[in-house]
Amino acid sequence: VRPSGLVVGVDLGHSHLRVVTADLAGNVLGERVAELDIDRNADAALDASAMFITELLAETGAPRAAIAAVVLGLPGPLRHEVVGSSSILPGWTSLEPAPALARRIGLRVRVDNDANLGALGETTFGAARGIEDVIYVKVSTGIGAGLVLGGRLYRGATGGAGELGHVRVNEQGVVCRCGSRGCLETLVSAPAIIATLQPAHTAPLSTELIVALAREGDPGTRRVLGDAGRQIGRAVADLCIALDPAAIVVGGELARASDVLLDGIRQSIDNYAQPGARQDVRVLPGGLGDRAEALGAVALAIETATGSAAVGAGSV
Ligand SMILES: [Zn+2]
Repeated sequence: VRPSGLVVGVDLGHSHLRVVTADLAGNVLGERVAELDIDRNADAALDASAMFITELLAETGAPRAAIAAVVLGLPGPLRHEVVGSSSILPGWTSLEPAPALARRIGLRVRVDNDANLGALGETTFGAARGIEDVIYVKVSTGIGAGLVLGGRLYRGATGGAGELGHVRVNEQGVVCRCGSRGCLETLVSAPAIIATLQPAHTAPLSTELIVALAREGDPGTRRVLGDAGRQIGRAVADLCIALDPAAIVVGGELARASDVLLDGIRQSIDNYAQPGARQDVRVLPGGLGDRAEALGAVALAIETATGSAAVGAGSV
């Protein structure tokens, strides 16, 4: 017998908050999105999350006790469910995010990394449905990867698996916000790409503007995004050799300029992954866009509530 109830997925990005409620079959019941600087204001982000949960619950007419599980996604490295780096999420240091939200809503909360949840979202509801071995690469303010191996999310010994953005690609490179230097993220995250392109533009650039320029065919933007894809692909190719995935799914804000970024990733996999493995691995754009992480939080909440993986049959 399928237990009845609701689940809640909360996705906190560097500059946004998204809350989704769903039933245990994965049908989305309600959704709220807000722009918010969460990096420096953890309390405001958690307060807004709690408010949205209360509002969405009221819309369904269900009592608070109907919520079977709540999952919170955060854009930073988590070690044993605590934010693992003071410099990556400065407002969250020493804060235990799960209990901090749990206190506000009176319910237990489970926390996971945003790229992990994006991977679960895309394998449950999106571009990689039915594929058992998938690397989800999120190209956004940061670069992260979520690993689904044998149909299960792989988090590593401490929860830190898949920190692709902090693979070192330049020994003499600039210092990264993680404290290391020459990390992939220092070259190809959204802020790094904006900084590379800005000298050619008079108006201040944003991620949205870069995606629009790429779509319009602006040669400089396409060149830089293609190079970024090739640099990301170089690191992904090593993961392909180690893990032999069936598909790479590319999500995050910059994936919206998907053709040129994905082509770059594809080229590096063809250049650097092992012959044999490289022809077989598919490189796919994410199917859920900005909602991948929140829907992944829903998938993990369903798994938490029912004890078995969400099947993705619902209407998202
Ligand atoms: Zn780093």
